[in-house]
Amino acid sequence: MWPLFASLLGLVIGSFLNVVIHRLPKRESLAYPPSHCPACSHRLSPWDLVPVLSYLALRGRCRYCGSPINPRYPLVEGLTGLLFLLAALFYPPSLEAFLVFAFLAFLVALAFIDLDTYELPDALTYGLLFLGLAASYFLSFPLSFRESLDGALMAAGGLGLVAGYGGLFLRRFREARPEVPVGPHQVHMAALFGALLGPGVGMALAFLTWALSARTGRPVVLPDRLTLPLLPVALLLAPALGLDPLESLKGSLLAAGGLALAGGLYWAFRPAPPEEEEEPVAMGYGDVKLLGALGAWLGLYAFLALLLAVFAGAFLGLLFRQRKLPFGPYLALGGVVAFFFGEAIWGAYLRFLGI
Ligand SMILES: [Zn+2]
Repeated sequence: MWPLFASLLGLVIGSFLNVVIHRLPKRESLAYPPSHCPACSHRLSPWDLVPVLSYLALRGRCRYCGSPINPRYPLVEGLTGLLFLLAALFYPPSLEAFLVFAFLAFLVALAFIDLDTYELPDALTYGLLFLGLAASYFLSFPLSFRESLDGALMAAGGLGLVAGYGGLFLRRFREARPEVPVGPHQVHMAALFGALLGPGVGMALAFLTWALSARTGRPVVLPDRLTLPLLPVALLLAPALGLDPLESLKGSLLAAGGLALAGGLYWAFRPAPPEEEEEPVAMGYGDVKLLGALGAWLGLYAFLALLLAVFAGAFLGLLFRQRKLPFGPYLALGGVVAFFFGEAIWGAYLRFLGI
């Protein structure tokens, strides 16, 4: 009964996710107006809105004007139903199971919105992040709070640094225009000082430059051309400085992630002024925030999710020969696989290595 209930719930939630995917990027209300045909605007009756079945019964056409219905609608419903079924096979009926349903619903919405708009709305990435942190804090599920917080910061910090190095290479080592009061410059600076002085001091110094930038209205930052090349040097020299190299790496990722997620939250509430010129970026900060959110649910398995996303992206990118690829759907896919099968994959990999 439970798997059947979960699948049906997934179909219904999937139907709601179609509304979210369609309306959230346009900042439209999710409740009003009621569902209508995008072609003829005829209001849809409950009979037109039964997940998947209505689409099949109507043979993919609007009952009122005969225009084709986008097959995406039944696809999102069916996919959500299958994902909830998968969750029901792993978790018995419980509050935990419903949290996993929420995790999956957030990822479906994020994946399809990124496909449509190349954007990952802050409401959803931070919603997923804070839900993971809150669940861990109050229920110790899916992780202990410490693992959840560390996972979120290290995952966001790791991908934030990948974005930083990627951008530096793409610009051929030209300095990026610093954002006031906070931007990637503070993330890179936090990483450097986090590696040498620990995550607390790394974050504190970066927050200090953030405050000074806000106070003066000018960028108070260390150049990327200094901080990014010095970071690997600091990590390599860590043992010579009497530091544990793994602790240094952890400190650098934690501090970078703290600045990436705090800075992202700041900009979420203060929309950036219109871009004057697009600078080449290797990876958007939307992906950084999404991987941070996955870290809150997966801990260090978020890095496995990232690896799976890179492989899936490379494979499918070659398959479809698309130039501009959103990365969010691959991260979401990697996140789902790592959530359910992460330990099994990691165990199989260790056995493969013979450890
Ligand atoms: Zn119609």
